[in-house]
Parts: sequence; structure tokens; C-alpha cells
Amino acid sequence: MSDTYPLSNLAAIDAAHHLHPFSDMKKLNADGTRIIQRGEGVHIFDSHGKKYLDGFAGLWCVNIGYGRKEIADAVAKQMNELPYYNTFFGTTSSPTTLLAEKVTSKAGPRFNHIFFTGSGSEANDTWFRMARVYWAAVGKPQKKTVIARRNGYHGSTVAGASLGGMKYMHEQGDLPIPGIVHIGQPYWYGEGGDLTPAEFGLKVARELEAKIDELGEENVAAFVAEPIQGAAGVIIPPETYWPEIDRICKARNILLVTDEVICGFGRLGEWFGHQYFGVEPDFAPIAKGLSSGYLPIGGVLVSDRIADVLINEVGDFNHGFTYSGHPVCAAAALENLRIIEEEKLVERVRDDIGLYFAKKWGALAEHDFVGEAESIGLMGGLQLAADKKTRTRFEKPDPIGSLVRNHALANGLVLRATGDRMLASPPLVIRHEEVDEMARIAKLALDAAWKELR
Ligand code: PLP
Repeated sequence: MSDTYPLSNLAAIDAAHHLHPFSDMKKLNADGTRIIQRGEGVHIFDSHGKKYLDGFAGLWCVNIGYGRKEIADAVAKQMNELPYYNTFFGTTSSPTTLLAEKVTSKAGPRFNHIFFTGSGSEANDTWFRMARVYWAAVGKPQKKTVIARRNGYHGSTVAGASLGGMKYMHEQGDLPIPGIVHIGQPYWYGEGGDLTPAEFGLKVARELEAKIDELGEENVAAFVAEPIQGAAGVIIPPETYWPEIDRICKARNILLVTDEVICGFGRLGEWFGHQYFGVEPDFAPIAKGLSSGYLPIGGVLVSDRIADVLINEVGDFNHGFTYSGHPVCAAAALENLRIIEEEKLVERVRDDIGLYFAKKWGALAEHDFVGEAESIGLMGGLQLAADKKTRTRFEKPDPIGSLVRNHALANGLVLRATGDRMLASPPLVIRHEEVDEMARIAKLALDAAWKELR
């Protein structure tokens, strides 16, 4: 391939033909695209042969690390046997059905069913419709409105982006669609003022109750939130937050949806984020870690309460995707889950590497530039601060994180930046010495950016 398209030309070809998601295209065309050629373990290699430690696991998804031949073999086998069949009109294929059994077995007793999708966005669109169908079937068709959170992220489809609370997404395409409203986020560092984290956690959770009162309980279908907000900057809620949300949803008969697209499949040291926080959702959209990103597949875990009504009252749910339960993606996912189980990666995050990561990532909080550095499992968020003593943020947070990210990248570490927060989410197979390396380069990047700002 490189004979026909020398690598040096790829950037020009890319600029000429490829529109990228979430990228400033003008800047990208001027700077040139980064072309990633190969991955192995926690490392990726670009077209110049430069090696990076991927502290972000692709896009929060390569849980088992790169280059696992077992997945390639399982995919090749399934490709040869049955490259495609659908799950419409009462059909299935064996990996799809076995995957349904395997995933639900990890999600706790309340979940015995899954609806497959091709992505996390489709998973969010799916429960959004299913929730309304459920309430209509139980005689409450007016229960339609969904409450979500400011700065939540639930994908890029029209419903997904509407459920998300990203202002810059709503501004493009006239979103949110009707029937979706947003309340505050449990972002204590940025919005907690003089309250303690515990007080603030309760305060923002109770915004849900106030919104339900305002809309009328009889009109509200569901509340959706990520167990830990990912794209917003790995915002870990105060301890008081989730128990109060769970209580309110139960007391007010509102379906609870935990978007597990990032937190699912071991990232927090439990199979799912709702298990970590001890809450009882009715739906849980999943994707990413389901196949460790090796092939696109997602789904919605559907609790018995909903599934019973869907099966016995609704019968035909008129919804689905050509690639719902794609057999090759399902084969990749099954093999991925086998690896996670066999290598005890979830337990490893909970009992070993997650604790080590917390120590190393947490130590970055000693830096003058860092207001707070927190993590759960292998999901870390770091708050950059103009004055850490007074918890003062930068006036214009936007370029601050990118500055650190760029220094990290130049030194061989991929981190993500959201405004003035740094985000980390390495593969679950990361070794202790690789965590050391992550922390070393992150500190170096903080030093360099801090120097530049002063
Ligand atoms: N939900 C959450 C919490 C996510 O982080 C993402 C993607 O990052 C999505 C949904 C959307 O998933 P996808 O990009 O597979 O559509």
C-alpha cells in the first residue's frame, strides 16, 4: 500500500477528502493529520515511527490493549463462517446470542436482556424510544420528558447529542430536540462555591427533584447520567450524589439510565459503573469496552421491569439497526470478554493497578498548576488552576488543557484535554512501570505548560 500511496502523501490525501469528527478542519489541514499506523499493548506508533503511550485507550475503549491476536483470530474465524446476518424478524447468529447471555450475566440480577446497536449513540437513541414505549404500554403515555445534565455526553446522533448537555453541540443543528431538559452537573471544583463536596453533591442531586416538580412527575419518563462524566472532564461526583439520585428516581417513579459507554467493562474496577456506585438503573447503554473498540458494537442493557412489558405488552418494538448484533462484532466482543475474565482485568483494576494509578495520578495534585487530581479505577481527571490555594480557575479555560496535552504528546504520551481539565483512561492492561511513565511525562508536560503561561 505504501508503494501506491507513500505515507508522506497520506496527509495531503486526508486533507483533500476526509472530514474529521470533533476536529478544527482548517487547522488540521494546515498542521497535517497524525497518522497512526500500529498498536501494541498500551502503545501506538505513528507514521513517522514515533511511539506513544496511549493514556486514553483510543477513545476510552481499548480496554485489553492493542494487538491482541486472539481477537483477530476470532474475527477471521467468524468472517469465514458467517460474515453477516441480521437480528430482525426473529433471527440471530450464535455469537450474538452467546454475547447477550455473557453481557447480561455481568450486569447483575436486574438485567437479563440486551438490545444490540452499532454504537453508544445508537444505544442512547434506543433507550430513549424504549422508555417512551414502556410508559405508553403501562398506560402513562404522557410520561415522555427526559431529564439529562449540563455537560453530559451521550453521543452524536440527534437524540444522543440532545441528551448530552454540551452547549457547543446544541449550537449546531438546533438542539436539543423537544422533550429533553437539562439540570446541573456534580462539578464541585468548578461550581461548588463555598459548599463542601458532600453538601454540593446533595444540592445538585436535588435539582432533579425540583425539575420533576416543575415538569410534573406524570410527564417525566427518565433521568440519564454517566456514572462519572467522561467527555466533560472526568468529573467524579461527590459521594452524596448517586445515592440521592437513586432515591429520587425510585420515590418519583422516574426511570434511571446510567450511561455506561465509558464506565462499563472494568474501567472503575467493577464490571459496570452503576455497580461501583451501588445504584439500580432501568437501562444501561453500553459500547466501547464491550469489544475494546476492536469492532463497532454497542447495546442497551434492559432491566426486567422494562423487558417484561416490552415482551408481554408491546410485542413488536419497531426499532433496530442493520448491524444490531452483527455476528463478527459479536465474535470480537465475546473474545474480548473472555480475555477480560481470564486475565481478571476487572479485579486487577479494583485491587491493584487502579490503586497504583490513583497514587501516581493523585500525586500530580502537588504541582503548582494542579487544583485537584482524582481517579477511580483507571479513569482520571485533573483540574488545572490559575491559583490552587484559592481554587481560582483560568479566565479562559479552553486553551489551557490543550497546552498540557500538546506537551504530553510531544513527549510521547496521549492524554485528552477538556477546557482546563486533563483526562486519562489507559488500557486496563497497563503495567506499573507504564503508569510511572505516564505520571513522569504528565508532570513534564505540566512543568512545560506552566512555564509557558507565566
Ligand atoms: N455515551 C458516552 C458516555 C460516551 O462517552 C460516548 C462516546 O464517547 C457515547 C455515549 C457515544 O458513543 P459512540 O461514539 O460509540 O456513538
